[in-house]
Amino acid sequence: MKKVLYEELTPKEFLARLEQAPIAYVPLGTLEWHGEHLPLGSDGIQSQGFMIELAERVGGIVLPMLFLGPESYKIIDGKEYFHMDMSPTVGPEPRQMPGSAHRIGWNLFAQILENVISRLKRAGFKIIVAHGHGPSTGVMRSNLEKWSKKYDVQLFHCWRDDESDGLGIQTDHAAANETSLVMALRPDLVQMENLPQDLSIWPAAIHGKDPRVNASAELGSTAIDMQLERMTRILTEALQQIR
Ligand SMILES: [Zn+2]
Repeated sequence: MKKVLYEELTPKEFLARLEQAPIAYVPLGTLEWHGEHLPLGSDGIQSQGFMIELAERVGGIVLPMLFLGPESYKIIDGKEYFHMDMSPTVGPEPRQMPGSAHRIGWNLFAQILENVISRLKRAGFKIIVAHGHGPSTGVMRSNLEKWSKKYDVQLFHCWRDDESDGLGIQTDHAAANETSLVMALRPDLVQMENLPQDLSIWPAAIHGKDPRVNASAELGSTAIDMQLERMTRILTEALQQIR
């Protein structure tokens, strides 16, 4: 295993990795309800886990995971409900799902992400990959061109145009895709037995294909291998352009 985590590198090791491939990976996490079966930090665990493998292949340095992210919300009777608290699968009334502590406003998140990009550019990076929590990745995607020009860096996220095969990186919410990815990366953190055994009962605040029948570590590994290959191609090309 190579040393790829930013916080673990000495300045000398940092410069050596930067020289070899000036790529920064920014895991866009949350601390958010991901069903009864997945850990609250699932978004960061998946994106950082994928990025560590990518950095070991292509080169580059992986940042610590962010845990703040944008999200839709509503104030009802003075109480703040996040997107998943208002899922129809939670019940007729919104309910605060335990553990969620990530939501910040869209503009504030865009400012944070823009500043991260500007700081990384200053530190010497020329290529930046930011990916993870859906709405956070959406902010990256919609500002890609603007920030790329403004800071003269190449920017990427890891979504494809069509994710209908379920083999992308974080394309649902705690359903078959995300559950399979956590199963592949950190099987010790998945507790499928916490979900209702009766398949006619839909688990609360899970959006996508039923993880109880569709998720597996094999599916997660297949997705990771496929996306590692795809991102390796994209980043190798990006590296050639700056050399
Ligand atoms: Zn997620």
